[in-house]
Amino acid sequence: MTQANYLDGNAAAGALSEVFAVDLTSAVGRCDGCGQTAVFAEARLYVDAPGMVARCNGCESVLLRVVTTPDDTYLDLRGLTYLRIPKA
Ligand SMILES: [Zn+2]
Repeated sequence: MTQANYLDGNAAAGALSEVFAVDLTSAVGRCDGCGQTAVFAEARLYVDAPGMVARCNGCESVLLRVVTTPDDTYLDLRGLTYLRIPKA
């Protein structure tokens, strides 16, 4: 049996908190690839790519990419139809 080479979406909390004032790991996102809705923490998070890549645990489509350079943070959310963020 091979070991998974990804973490769960909770591991993205630190990087995402630098961009958003709320914790997005508890937000519900809809995958633009397969339409599955799930709590972001259930995404598969790959940190061995350039930056960080979160993939849908249903169809493996890319949901989110975050790349941090010395001057900027790039956030690509095109794999999510939406993020539903609970009110605090
Ligand atoms: Zn999907």
